[in-house]
Amino acid sequence: MPKRVIIIGSGIIGASAAYHLAKAGAQVSVLEAGEAGGVATRSSWAWINASWGNPEPYFRLRLRAIADWHRLAAELPELRPQWCGGLIWDLPAEELDAYAEERRTWGHPIRRVSRSEILAIEPNLKDVPDHAYHVAEEGMVEPLAASRTLLEAASALGARILTGTPVKWLDGEDRIEGVMTDDGVIHADETVVAAGVHSAGLLDSAGISLKLTAPAGLLAHSKPGPKLLNGLVMTPGLHLRQTAEGRLVAGTDFAGADPEGDAEGLSADLQRKLEGLVKGAEGLGLDFLTVGHRPTPADGFPAIGRPRGCEGLYTIVTHSGVTLAPVLGRFAAEELLTGGRDPLLSPYHPDRPTLT
Ligand SMILES: Cc1cc2nc3c(=O)[nH]c(=O)nc-3n(C[C@H](O)[C@H](O)[C@H](O)COP(=O)(O)OP(=O)(O)OC[C@H]3O[C@@H](n4cnc5c(N)ncnc54)[C@H](O)[C@@H]3O)c2cc1C
Repeated sequence: MPKRVIIIGSGIIGASAAYHLAKAGAQVSVLEAGEAGGVATRSSWAWINASWGNPEPYFRLRLRAIADWHRLAAELPELRPQWCGGLIWDLPAEELDAYAEERRTWGHPIRRVSRSEILAIEPNLKDVPDHAYHVAEEGMVEPLAASRTLLEAASALGARILTGTPVKWLDGEDRIEGVMTDDGVIHADETVVAAGVHSAGLLDSAGISLKLTAPAGLLAHSKPGPKLLNGLVMTPGLHLRQTAEGRLVAGTDFAGADPEGDAEGLSADLQRKLEGLVKGAEGLGLDFLTVGHRPTPADGFPAIGRPRGCEGLYTIVTHSGVTLAPVLGRFAAEELLTGGRDPLLSPYHPDRPTLT
């Protein structure tokens, strides 16, 4: 009999877990309170990278995640990640050089580029420094489309995707037997909590504590326009990318800043900076803003695994979920179905003292 697995949440994390579990033969049901595709996911800047975040073990996980994006895109070409590369000069020059040197010693393909090389990579930039760094292997993806593609692929493998189906609580005590919904209990052999910022509340219903934060991040989206950027651009106070449909998406950094009640002021500032940086962006104009909340375990690293003392339960909560989704979904499926836990996950057990 295939294992019956419930996944709570259809963001990019739940969607990846659903795809990998269904592919490995599990009988999967995804329960989603709202629409398919996630909440944080749809407001993400969606940079696929190993540049952000220390220490080295986390870098290694992110590097594996990039390899897994390539594997997943070969399996599901509709995912269409763009391996467009990223230009970075968002730190003071000395700090930037030290950062790049550390990464190089870890084997990161980060390359110092001169002013003329920067302009060869991004000819429409107006104001560039004497040098920056470039990582050609980084990329981006349209995050909502990607999570929906994963859900469709899971569905084609037999998974049920139930939208408009909020889970009220986890059902069971020492062993989770399923979840309570408006229509009663749905039973499962395994329940995966991948509910983004709402994961802590659901785990709490089974007496499990997980310290999460949910920082807000504003991104400003321009109207669609002609291709102005070839890749991602990370400058001080302005991170910028152009979507597949031609919108420039700008944040104070990739994670966006908390608008703190002045979203208009913050977006006007971003608009001014982007017009100052990119030739041709002047006439585009702002179309809309998004403010997303990043599901972020309190120490800033992923929480993935079986909370101890409660069988039948697994959780995956993380920032950088767009980067990490392919690898975390695959590792979760392996652990749930075979019991094997990849050594790259060693630091990220949800029971670690910083999270409980
Ligand atoms: C502004 C911003 C910028 C970011 N930039 C990047 C970036 O550049 N690179 C990167 O890798 N990551 C980035 N991230 C982080 C990344 O987007 C998230 O880590 C990822 O989207 C989390 O996915 P998720 O599936 O865990 O959560 P979500 O997308 O929030 O999905 C969780 C789902 O669970 C559902 N749910 C919640 N409670 C229940 C319930 N009780 N019952 C049923 N369903 C429920 C919700 O409705 C939701 O659909 C960014 C995030 C933000 C907000």
